[in-house]
Amino acid sequence: MKLQAAKNHSRFARVKGTHDTLPEAHAQWARIAAVAKQVLERAGAVQLTPPIFEYSEVFTKSVGESADLVVQKEMYTFFDAGARSLTLRPEFTAGVLRAFIEHGLYVWPSPIKLWSIGPVFRAEKPQRGRFRQFHQVNCELLGLDAPLLDAEAITLLYQIFSELGLRGLVVKLGSVGDPEDRQAYNHYLREALTPLADRLSEASRERLRLNPMRVLDSKSAEDQAVVASLKRPLDFLGEAAKVHFAQVQAYLSDWQLPFELEPNMVRGLDYYRRTAFEFHHGAIGAQSALCGGGRYDGLVEQLGGPPTPGVGWAFGLERLLDALQQEGALPTGSVRPLLYLIPMDEEAVGEVAKAAFTLRRHGVVLHAYAPRNPGKGLKEADRAGAVLAALRGSRERAHGSYQIKELASGAQFEVPEGELAAFLRGHQARDHEANTLLR
Ligand code: AMP
Repeated sequence: MKLQAAKNHSRFARVKGTHDTLPEAHAQWARIAAVAKQVLERAGAVQLTPPIFEYSEVFTKSVGESADLVVQKEMYTFFDAGARSLTLRPEFTAGVLRAFIEHGLYVWPSPIKLWSIGPVFRAEKPQRGRFRQFHQVNCELLGLDAPLLDAEAITLLYQIFSELGLRGLVVKLGSVGDPEDRQAYNHYLREALTPLADRLSEASRERLRLNPMRVLDSKSAEDQAVVASLKRPLDFLGEAAKVHFAQVQAYLSDWQLPFELEPNMVRGLDYYRRTAFEFHHGAIGAQSALCGGGRYDGLVEQLGGPPTPGVGWAFGLERLLDALQQEGALPTGSVRPLLYLIPMDEEAVGEVAKAAFTLRRHGVVLHAYAPRNPGKGLKEADRAGAVLAALRGSRERAHGSYQIKELASGAQFEVPEGELAAFLRGHQARDHEANTLLR
């Protein structure tokens, strides 16, 4: 049910780049979370939720000193009373892997699939699809370096989006190679770009200094013009990374998952290697990436754990909802009240509330909090979107019953109070049958 809202009279506004999740959006979120949970858990994933903040080293150690999150100060970092530096999580992977190591989960049989959902924080300049607090569904698949795991990670994501009815997806696939390949490519880029530096944007000149591969990610036209003439990351893949990448593609082709090769794909975080992927949507503006992911063998070790290969991804709920809205495929998910109880005298106020407590086992049951005449009570029931209304006054008390009205048809029934639950169950069953027949 969508309720009207009054004009904004608040003295305070929310922080720029953050959102209040209102009831309608919660119903949509719940649907996305339920679909993600079902798809992932049916594939053997289990849920792990790390804290919202960690010691800052967990993030700085994992994302790499040259990553945008660190360099461009996109992390919310603060000091606690003991002068320890803490950071609000800018992504899930580092915290999930810290927990994976801290709790010794690496002894579980491989592959280990861990999924999470919750808010993440980045001190970015807000714009469409780019917020300071946003929400991600994240999944890490750990313990195997087989290309099959990369292909499965991509397929799980694709299944979640398909299950939600999203159609305009473009799956982009690339490989950033092994660390030696990345190094060779970065070396090549530095040599090739340094003489052209004055044609690059200021941000890209900084990237050239710290992590030249990131110049390829620039959206600026001047940078893109320079980049167009250069060799691409895929041209620098070593033999092992090349074979691995070919196998990932072979699985996806065999499973008929449509993808495009993106020879220029790079990842913002230093820990990625080999497979990298993004899912894009054309109708959500400049920030068109619905998700980002890739392989990160070596990261668990970097965080102090035993050598454990892995591949992971995260998608943003806000961008996904934007894409679903553009396609007119937003989930509704709001639940219709089954019953609205109307007390017609003072004594009935407590009686209907008591009945509601037990009847809620069968669905959403609401009631009026003060006596109503039947006309007003039924109007309220209708406004609440209820399927049934039940009236209770002195006449019904004398009969030990409720007067029930089916709001759509107007049909009325006198139901003994002891049989209300059975009546609701029967009504739900008939309703379900009718809906099934209609389909
Ligand atoms: P990343 O961790 O940067 O690869 O981002 C993964 C996904 O999170 C993106 O594809 C977006 O869907 C979402 N995302 C990243 N940054 C933001 C942001 N600032 N605001 C909203 N969503 C974001």
